[in-house]
Amino acid sequence: MAVLAVIESGSDLATALYIVSFSLFIFGVRRGTHPTTAKQGNLIAAVGMAIAVVTTLLLDGIGNWGLLLLGLGIGTAVGVVASLRVQMTAMPQMVALYNGVGGGAVALIAWSEFRHELALGIEIPLEELIPIMFSMVIGSVSFWGSNIAFGKLQGVIPGQPIKAPGQQVLNALLLVGIVAACVILASTNDDPSQGVFIGVLIAAALLGNLVVLPIGGADMPVVISLLNAFTGLAAAAAGFALDNVALIVAGTLVGSSGTILTLEMAEAMNRSVANILFAGFGGAPAGGGGAATAEERPHKSVTAQDAAISLAYADSVVVVPGYGMAVAQAQHAVKEMADELEKRGVTVNYAIHPVAGRMPGHMNVLLAEADVPYEKLREMDEINPEMPRTDVAVVIGANDVTNPAAKNDPDSPIAGMPIIEVDEAQQVIVIKRSLNPGFAGIDNDLFYHEKTSMLFGDAKDAVSQVTAEVGNL
Ligand code: NAP
Repeated sequence: MAVLAVIESGSDLATALYIVSFSLFIFGVRRGTHPTTAKQGNLIAAVGMAIAVVTTLLLDGIGNWGLLLLGLGIGTAVGVVASLRVQMTAMPQMVALYNGVGGGAVALIAWSEFRHELALGIEIPLEELIPIMFSMVIGSVSFWGSNIAFGKLQGVIPGQPIKAPGQQVLNALLLVGIVAACVILASTNDDPSQGVFIGVLIAAALLGNLVVLPIGGADMPVVISLLNAFTGLAAAAAGFALDNVALIVAGTLVGSSGTILTLEMAEAMNRSVANILFAGFGGAPAGGGGAATAEERPHKSVTAQDAAISLAYADSVVVVPGYGMAVAQAQHAVKEMADELEKRGVTVNYAIHPVAGRMPGHMNVLLAEADVPYEKLREMDEINPEMPRTDVAVVIGANDVTNPAAKNDPDSPIAGMPIIEVDEAQQVIVIKRSLNPGFAGIDNDLFYHEKTSMLFGDAKDAVSQVTAEVGNL
C-alpha cells in the first residue's frame, strides 16, 4: 500500500507535534494527582498519546498502511472490550497484562531495529546498539514477568511463591550471561550475530519468568509497578535508538513514576523492594492468610442491630475500608450506610490506608465509584490524630492495615508498618466473615480488644443489614 508521508522525519513540525504530545502527558499526569481531576488527566494524556501516534504514522518512511490499520483495529477492539468488561477487583491483573504487552512491544521494536540495521550491512553505531540491547532485554523481562504476575493474580498459576533450589544462582548466571552476550555484540558491531541477539532475547525471557515465579501472589501489585517502571525505561531506550523524542519522554515518565510508586508501596508496608522480590512473602492473593486462626481467643461478637445502635447514636464515625470491601463489592452498601447515618446527624469520614486492598488507590477508586465525596476520604496521617475523638471506628473488610501489632510488637512481620490507629477510637466495630488473618497471614489483636465488637458476615450483606437496622431505629 502507498506510503502516506506528510511530515518529514526530524522536521520542526514533527518536533513541535511531539512537544505538544509530551507536554500533554506531563499535564495529564499532574491532573492525575487528585481524584477530582484524575479522569480529566487521563483524557488529556490520551489526547497526547493520540497526537504522538498520528504524528509517527504520518512520518516519511512509515508504510504498509494495511498492516498498520489492522494492528490499530485489533488493538483498539481488544482494549475497549476488555476495559469495559473488567471488574474493579481484576484491575491489577489487567494492568499487568497491558504492561506486559508494552514491554513485549518494546522488545520486538528493538529486534526489528536490529534486523533493519543488519540488513543495511554497515557497522551499527554503539549509541544505537546499546539502547537496542537495553530495550530488548528489559522489555523482554517485563513482558514475561508481567505475564507471570497476571497468571498469579488471575489464579491461572498458583499464587504461592514457586521456588526451586539454586534459583537465585541460576538467575545470577542468566544475568551474567546476558551482560556478557551484550558486550560481545557491542564489540562485534561491524558484524554482530543475530544468533547471539536471539540468545539474549531467550535468556531475558527466562529471567523474567524466574524472577517473578518465587514472589507471592499478593505482592504482585508491587512487582507490576516495578515492571511498569522497567517497561518505561525500555521504551525510553527504544526512543534513543529510533531517535523519537516523544518515546524518550513518555518512557522516562513511566519509568520514574513507576519507580516512585514502587518505593512508596514498599514504604507503606515497611518492607524493602529487595525483601518483596526475594523473601517469598505472602501467598495467594485471595485475602485469606496462611497462618492458624485464633478462634479460641475470647472476643465479642455482635448483631447488625447492636452495631446499628452504636453507630446511630454516635457523633462521629470513621469507616476503615480494606480488601474485604473490594471482594464483597460493598462500596455502594457502605455509602448507603453513611447516608443513613448522616441523615441522623452523625459525621462520617473514611480513613484510607495507602496499601489497603491490593493495588494503589484501590479504596479511593471504589469509594469514588460509589459517589463518596472526595473530601471525606482522609489519608492515614490526617485521620490518625482524630481517632481518639472518634466515637466509633467501623472496619469493613480491613485487617492488616489496622493491626496494632505493627506498632506494639517489634517481632511482628508487619512491625513498623504505619496503620490506621482504630485502637485509639472510643469503640471499634469490625465487619468480616471470620477471625481469619489477611494478606500478612498474622492474627490481629484488635479483634480481641475490649473496645472491639466483631460483626461476622460478608461485608456487603452485613453493612446492608446495619443500614436497615439504623433505618428502623
Ligand atoms: P487484608 O489484611 O488482606 O485483610 C482483608 C480481610 O478481608 C481478610 O482478613 C478477610 O477476612 C476479609 N474479607 C475477605 N472477603 C471478605 C468479604 N467478602 N466480606 C468481608 N470481609 C472479607 O486487607 P487490608 O487490611 O486491606 O490490607 C491490605 C494488605 O495487602 C496489607 O498487608 C498490604 O501490605 C497488602 N498489599 C497491598 C497492596 C496495595 O497496593 N494495596 C499491594 C500488595 C500487598 P475474612 O476471611 O475473615 O472475611
